[in-house]
Amino acid sequence: ARVQTLPKVFARTYASATGPHALVFLEHRDGAIDSGSLSALTAAKQLGGEVTGVLVGGPEQLKDVIPQAQKLDGLNTLLHASAAQYAAPIPETISPLLESLLSGSKYTHVVSAHSSSAKSLLPRVAAKLDVPAISDVTSVDHDSSSNATTFTRPIYAGNAIATVRASSNIPIKFFTVRSTAFKAAEASSAEAKASAIDAVEVTDPPTVHIKTEITKSDRPDLGVASRVVSGGRALKNAETFKATLEPLADVLGAAIGASRAAVDAGYADNSLQVGQTGKVVAPELYMALGISGAIQHLAGMKDSKLIVAVNKDPDAPIFQVADAGLVADLYDVVPELVEKLKQ
Ligand code: FAD
Repeated sequence: ARVQTLPKVFARTYASATGPHALVFLEHRDGAIDSGSLSALTAAKQLGGEVTGVLVGGPEQLKDVIPQAQKLDGLNTLLHASAAQYAAPIPETISPLLESLLSGSKYTHVVSAHSSSAKSLLPRVAAKLDVPAISDVTSVDHDSSSNATTFTRPIYAGNAIATVRASSNIPIKFFTVRSTAFKAAEASSAEAKASAIDAVEVTDPPTVHIKTEITKSDRPDLGVASRVVSGGRALKNAETFKATLEPLADVLGAAIGASRAAVDAGYADNSLQVGQTGKVVAPELYMALGISGAIQHLAGMKDSKLIVAVNKDPDAPIFQVADAGLVADLYDVVPELVEKLKQ
C-alpha cells in the first residue's frame, strides 16, 4: 500500500484542537434514511468523537425522517433544515448551507455516502473551504494525538488499495464512504437531540430539478440485497434476460444485476449495472451468469461473500474470483437450478 500525504494548502484554520467532531450528511428517500448514509454514520462513529447529523428536505419530507434519524446509534445531535428548495437533493442548492455550518465551526470531519448527490456536494464545499476531499473510502482510522486521519480507498478499478493520510494541517477532513465497507448504523434506545436550522436561500440556482424518474421494482434493492443474480451478454436480448433470470431471482428472493454489455445492448435497465461505472455490491451470494468477468465488472462485485459463476468458456476470468464455478450452458443450468430450488 502506498501512503500519500495530502498537501499543506491552508493558511486558515477552521476547527478547534479538541477531539474529533464529525458532521454527517444524511440522505433520505420516501421517508427513510438511505442505507448508504447509515454506513457513513458508522464510519463517522469510528473516528471516536462526537457525531452530528444534518438532514435537509422539503417541508413535508422530513416529518418521518427526523424521528428515525434521532434514534440512530452513534448520532449525538441532529440538525435539520426544511425548505421547498431542498425537496430535490441538488448539490448546488445544499452546499451554501453546509458551508455556513462549517465556517468557524467545531467540526473536524464531514462525512457522507459515496452517492451520486453527495459525491458532488462534498468536494464542492471542500473546495470552497480550500481543503481536499477524499472519496469512496473503505476504512477510517483517526489518531487524536496527531489529529491525522488515515483512510484506505480502492484505486485502478479496485486492483490496488491506496492508503491516504489527511494530516493535522487539514482542519476539516471531508470524505465519502463506500457503503459496502461499513455496517449500516442501527436504531438504538438513545435519542439524539434535534434542532431545526435555517435554510440558506439560493435565489438563482445554477441547476434546477425538472423531474425524477425512478424504476419501480418489487425486488430487493440491488445495492443492499443479500443475494444478486446477474446476467451478461450471453442473455441475448431483453426478453431472454427477463425470462431466464426472473424465475431464479424469484426463487432466491434476489435482486437482478447486469454487466455493462447487457445494459448497453438494452437487455437490462441502467440502474442494474454492476461494476466500476455501475453499482458496487457485496451480497452474501452473487451469481454471474454468462458474464466473462472483465476487470471493470469485478470492481463492482468481487467483495461478495460467495460468488457462483456459470460460463461456457472454462478460461473465462470470472472463474478466477468464483468460489463455485460451472462450465456449462446457462440455458441448461438455470431452469434445472430453479426446479431444484423450488423443491
Ligand atoms: P462478454 O465479455 O461478451 O462475456 C459474455 C460471456 O458469456 C462470455 O464469457 C461467454 O463465454 C459467456 N457465454 C456465452 N453464451 C453462454 C451460455 N449460453 N452459457 C454460459 N455462458 C455463455 N462492465 C461491467 O460489467 N460493469 C461496468 O461497470 C463496466 N464499466 C466499464 C468502464 C470502462 C471505462 C470500460 C472501458 C469498460 C467497462 N465495462 C464494464 C465493460 C467491460 O470491460 C466488459 O466489456 C463487460 O463487462 C463485458 O460484459 P459481459 O461479461 O456480459 O460480456
